[in-house]
Amino acid sequence: MKILVAIKRVPDPETTIKVNPEGNGIVEAGIKWVVNPFCEIAIEEALKIKEAGSDVEVVLVSIGGSDSQEQLRTGLAMGADRAILVTADSTDPTAVAKLLQTIVEKEEPGLLLLGKQAIDDDSNEVGQMLAQLLGWPQATFISELKLSDDASSADVVREVDGGLESDRIPLPAVITADLRLNEPRYASLPGIMKARKKPLEEIEASSLGVDMAPRIVIKSMSPPPERQAGRTVESVDELVDALRNEAKVL
Ligand code: AMP
Repeated sequence: MKILVAIKRVPDPETTIKVNPEGNGIVEAGIKWVVNPFCEIAIEEALKIKEAGSDVEVVLVSIGGSDSQEQLRTGLAMGADRAILVTADSTDPTAVAKLLQTIVEKEEPGLLLLGKQAIDDDSNEVGQMLAQLLGWPQATFISELKLSDDASSADVVREVDGGLESDRIPLPAVITADLRLNEPRYASLPGIMKARKKPLEEIEASSLGVDMAPRIVIKSMSPPPERQAGRTVESVDELVDALRNEAKVL
C-alpha cells in the first residue's frame, strides 16, 4: 500500500510574526520555517501504519518554493521513503488542491493523509477540496485511525463540535489529522543521515497543466491592536472597584 502525505512549510508557531510595512504580507526575514504541526501528525500516522508490519511506502508531497525541500527532508528523516516537491510561486489553497490532485492521479495511493489545517493561513480547506476534486470519501479532524486488515476501509474517530464521531470509510480516501491523533517523533541522527540519500523528485507546477490563478487575494493585513499595559492593585477592594467602575465588567 502507498500512503501519500501532503505537507506544508510554515513559520514556526513560536515565531513572532510581523506584518510588512506595505501591509500585504509578513516579514519573512528571520523566521524559522518548520513542517506544519498538523502535517507532522499526518506523517507520524503514516509511519505508524508502515511500522505495523504491512508493506507500506510513505511518500511525501509539498507544494511551494524550492526551500520546501528542507521540510521534505525533515519528513524523510522521520522515516518517510521518498518525497515530491512541486515548485510553485503561489500556495493558494484551490491551486494547491488541484496540483495535489494531479500528483494523486499519478501516484495512485491507497490513502491520502493531510493536516486538518495549515497554521499559517488557517484555511482548513485543502483536504476537503481535494476529496471533491478526486471524488473520494473524506474523514476530517480525525483523532483515531485503524485500517482494516485488507486496507479496503478505515475506522476513524472524528473530533466534532458535540464530541467524538466514529465512522467507517472505504479506501482510497482523504483523511485529515487533528491534534490528538498522535505525538510526532523527532528525527533521529541516523534518520537525518539516511534522509540525505532518499529520493526527492522536483516537478515544475507549470508542467502539470493546472489553472493556478489565485482565488484569494489578500487586500490588506494588519497586526492585532497592541494590548495596554496592566497595573497592579493593592487590595481586593481596589480590584473590585476597578472591575466595576473602570472595566465595567461587574
Ligand atoms: P489548509 O487547507 O491550507 O489549512 O491546509 C490543510 C492541509 O492541506 C495541510 O495540513 C497540508 O496537509 C495540505 N496543504 C496545504 N497547503 C499545502 C502545500 N502548499 N503543500 C502541500 N500540502 C499542503
